[in-house]
Order: sequence, then structure tokens, then C-alpha cells
Amino acid sequence: MEKNLVVHRYTSRKFLSLGTLNEIITEVEADKNVIDNAIRRVGEIDDAMSAFKRDSEISKINLYAGQKWVSVSPDCFNLLKLSTNLSEVSAGAFDITIKPIVELWGINKKSNYFPEDLQIHTALKLVNYKDLLLDEKSHSARLANPGQAIDLGGIAKGYAADEVKRILLDGGIKTALINLGGNIIAVGRNHENMPWKIGIQNPMAVRGTYVGVLSAENVSVVTSGSNERFFVKNGVRCHHIINPKTGIPAQSGLLSATIVAENSTLADALSTAAFVLGMEKGLDLIKKYGAEAIFATDDFKVYVTDGLKDKFVMCEKEASLERGCI
Ligand code: AMP
Ligand code: MG
Repeated sequence: MEKNLVVHRYTSRKFLSLGTLNEIITEVEADKNVIDNAIRRVGEIDDAMSAFKRDSEISKINLYAGQKWVSVSPDCFNLLKLSTNLSEVSAGAFDITIKPIVELWGINKKSNYFPEDLQIHTALKLVNYKDLLLDEKSHSARLANPGQAIDLGGIAKGYAADEVKRILLDGGIKTALINLGGNIIAVGRNHENMPWKIGIQNPMAVRGTYVGVLSAENVSVVTSGSNERFFVKNGVRCHHIINPKTGIPAQSGLLSATIVAENSTLADALSTAAFVLGMEKGLDLIKKYGAEAIFATDDFKVYVTDGLKDKFVMCEKEASLERGCI
């Protein structure tokens, strides 16, 4: 009789960090110390890179904007460098100096606030990734003008997820599902030696309702979307991803952009950038990095790149969304 019992093989560790709920799923036999180390590392990254923590390295750069150089840790420096790189390649769609505009819109704070044109115009003058100066020799960073500020909200979770993966693999854990506030990494295969199944959020429905399911193995899956916390005012769907060219929440025809890539830091930045750019330019961008994508458009279609065609299954009951071709 006992042979027929289903044995629960996984254990889940949930923890708050990076301003969100995170989860690491591993086999029950996995070394707890390794998972503890990974969680500790996420906390370390949050402490260094949060723009909300007063003593973080990023807050120091913001505090001394227009005044002086701030020496930062190698991982912070490398992430700033990569961010600047992605700004160049995305023609400024991804821009971590977006913080003054994020503040103006009161993203996460003020409810349904729509700033005046003049306010947007003024804050927008402070947004320019070229004003983030980096000195390789001293690992220092500085913002050129007072009032400028960095926000790593579009990339830090991806970086933290990559670090969790590295620590798990170094510690001998070869099977895991890492979920840092929606930045997912499928490490290896599941216990049935099958790819992990990742639900892709339906941007038109409540959280946990999927447009489809993706089979994932040794990849990161990251979605940027306007589904969470948005309101419509003056005909604009207002959400938390800003077009740095206009200072207004991106209206690119996308409801969500899901990026699938080996590296989660990259997938995170690319999903934010692609969401700003829209499907056509977003595709051009992700191709440069060999990434794949699932786009949900505001005419209720779901587009999947060639590399995912055999791995993505649409949920039939989502009749409100249909599949398109790219
Ligand atoms: P994500 O959910 O990864 O797309 O990141 C969105 C977060 O990144 C926002 O909450 C902001 O903190 C920040 N952000 C908003 N717009 C941009 C942008 N154009 N480039 C970089 N970061 C952004
Ligand atoms: Mg992102």
C-alpha cells in the first residue's frame, strides 16, 4: 500500500526582500545551509542596491548627485556598467536614472496621480543615463547633476536571481525553481526529469491566471507588465514602467513582455526595455542578445518567438486572448 503514496519531494522557502515576496523551491534533501546562504546574499544585494534604504550604495550615489564620486562594491559597479550598456543598446528605453520621474508619478505611493506637463518636463531633464559617470579604476560612480537619481528596480531582481542560482549550483543543488518577485529561474529539471512548468500571467486578469504555460529548463523567465497597480486617466494606462523619452508610462501597444534568456539580469532589463519599445523594436533588441519572448498586446493577442513555439502552450480557457504570428 505504502508504495502508492505520493511523496512530496519539494520544499519551499519564502522570504521578503527586494521589496517583494520571494521563493526558492528545491528538493527536500537539498542542503539547508546552501539555501540560507542564497537568502543571505539576496539581503546583501538589497542592502547595497535598494534606492529606498538610506545607507545603500545606490542611495549614496543619489545623495551626492552633482557633488562627488562614490566608491561602490564590484558587483554594484558591474551592474551599473551593464545598465548603462543596456541603455546604449536599447536607445535609452532602459534607463536607471529614471528615478526622478518614478518619484513624480508616486509609483508605489500616491494613488492615481497624474502629474502636470510642466512637472514631467522638469523631472525629465534629470533623466539621462549618460550622466551616470563610472570610473573603472577606483570602482566609483557619480551622477553629473544635483537632483539626478538611480533606481535599479528594473534589473536588481534579475541580478539577485542569478546570484541565488550561482550559490545553489556551487552548493551542489542542481534542481530548483527560483522566484524573486516574478523573476524566475528554472534550475535544471524537476524531479520527474521534466522541464519546469512556468505559468505566464494573463495581463488582463487577476494574479495567478495564465495566458499559457512555458516549459523551462536552465533558463530565466521574466515578465514586465502593466497589469499590476495600474489606472487609466486622460486616456493613458498608468503603470510603473516609464518611457524615458516622454516621462509617461509606456504606451507601446504591449500589455506584457516576457523574456526568456539564460541570464536573469539580462532578461530583467530586456523585459523592461522591450515593454517600453513595443513588440517590433523590442524584438530587434532581444535578438541581439539571443533571447526569446512572449508578448501580450493590447488588442488581446499573444505572440511567441520561434525558439519558444514548442515550449509554450496557450491556456484554452483564455478565450479573450488569441495567438498571433511574428
Ligand atoms: P520591471 O518590473 O523589471 O519592468 O521594472 C520596473 C521598475 O523599474 C519600475 O518600478 C521602476 O522602478 C523602474 N523603471 C521604470 N521605468 C524604467 C525604465 N524605462 N528603465 C529602467 N527602469 C525603469
Ligand atoms: Mg525588468
